[in-house]
Amino acid sequence: SDFPERPTAIVTGAASERGIGRATAHRLARDGWAVAVLDLDGAASEAVAARITEETGMPALGLGVDISDEQAVIDAVARIDAELPQLVGVVNNAGISSPTPFTEVGTEEWKRVFDVNVHGTYFVTREAVKVFRRHSLGRIVNVSSASAERGGGVYGRAAYSGSKAALLGIARTWARELGEYGITANCVAPGSIDTDIMGGRLSDERKTFLLQELPVGRVGTVEDVAGGIAYLLGRDGGYLTGVTLDINGGSHIA
Ligand code: NAD
Repeated sequence: SDFPERPTAIVTGAASERGIGRATAHRLARDGWAVAVLDLDGAASEAVAARITEETGMPALGLGVDISDEQAVIDAVARIDAELPQLVGVVNNAGISSPTPFTEVGTEEWKRVFDVNVHGTYFVTREAVKVFRRHSLGRIVNVSSASAERGGGVYGRAAYSGSKAALLGIARTWARELGEYGITANCVAPGSIDTDIMGGRLSDERKTFLLQELPVGRVGTVEDVAGGIAYLLGRDGGYLTGVTLDINGGSHIA
């Protein structure tokens, strides 16, 4: 059905100050979206939402939700559906990394990575799709990673790469199954983006090494990724589905 004048998007993991999610939430609000900011810390989510409204005039709701908590997700999406304009988009951005080598990673870490990156994405999307189907319109973007395609590399090890690769296959299946309900599903696969997810673990030497072979010759910014997500989510993205947008400065052709 028709794209509403003022759609709403859920952006998970959007409270991190220098993160991809926060930049995406701001970008979407500038593009005319109302936004729901979901992140672990309720106060931080509310603060980001307040700033978005202040800067763009768009409605925004910040909620403290652990996306791996099924009931918390069900309650949050119900609130978003009740309090914000028509829900049209979901950006599955919340994620945790796993820098531990395969020979050392334990069961607990392995399961936590999949709980958040895969199962959390499943809960949020499942609940959003129920709302999308009422309106016969929906847009899903999963934030995967170049490490899903390359088998780790910069920092992601097996659990991380595996969870991010799962998001690629799941999105393509959503694209097939949900198309008849007016729903598209796509991924972005960012390369090295300057955020806090690494917790400062990437040394300057390693950065210099990584940049040597990169055609664009710089580390990516959160705005680089937010722009790609906004395109896939927006009015002009309706004929793209099952696509993975590589936002990596050309690392795959290097
Ligand atoms: P970040 O750590 O700044 O942001 C991740 C956010 O997710 C944080 O705000 C965190 O609180 C939130 N989060 C974590 N677990 C959560 C949970 N259970 N429930 C709700 N929120 C939760 O990192 P970022 O670099 O902005 O990462 C955003 C996404 O981009 C992640 O999925 C990451 O895997 C992906 N990514 C990042 C890069 C990169 O180079 N930075 C590259 C490829 C993909």
